[in-house]
Amino acid sequence: MTSDCLFCKITAREIPAQVVYEDGDTLAFLDINPINPGHTLVIPKEHSKDIFDIDEKNWAAVMRTSRIVAHALEKALKTDGINLGMNNRAGAGQMIFHAHVHVMPRTVGDPHRPWPGRPYAEGEFVAMGEKLRAALK
Ligand code: 5GP
Ligand code: ZN
Repeated sequence: MTSDCLFCKITAREIPAQVVYEDGDTLAFLDINPINPGHTLVIPKEHSKDIFDIDEKNWAAVMRTSRIVAHALEKALKTDGINLGMNNRAGAGQMIFHAHVHVMPRTVGDPHRPWPGRPYAEGEFVAMGEKLRAALK
């Protein structure tokens, strides 16, 4: 528990939330400002800041719960699809610094769009592959 963390306070039930699922390691609750109704946040109960900070056990637990929630959204809402999203660090738009995955129900024709893609410049595609393979060695 980090004392000034909003999502730790939700985990401790110090702040109310529409909790839809919980297990030993994770909590899932409705986002108060959803892209579509049913938009759910999945968090580890143990505080970590983001993808860089979370350990493997908690990450696996968050992924497991995200899948469970996706199935529930499909069952409850007959959703046309689901986006999973995660903002990590302020540079990626993170606003609450307790790791969380957004599970977002989608409907054909809703106003949301996937992120825009931009093609690589000549030669940069292969160079990027090499750079990342080197980082993964
Ligand atoms: P992110 O940090 O990934 O950019 O977004 C944080 C998300 O938390 C936002 O989608 C926002 O609507 C949601 N959020 C912010 N404050 C609260 C809150 O008090 N309760 C709930 N349930 N969601 C919140
Ligand atoms: Zn926290």
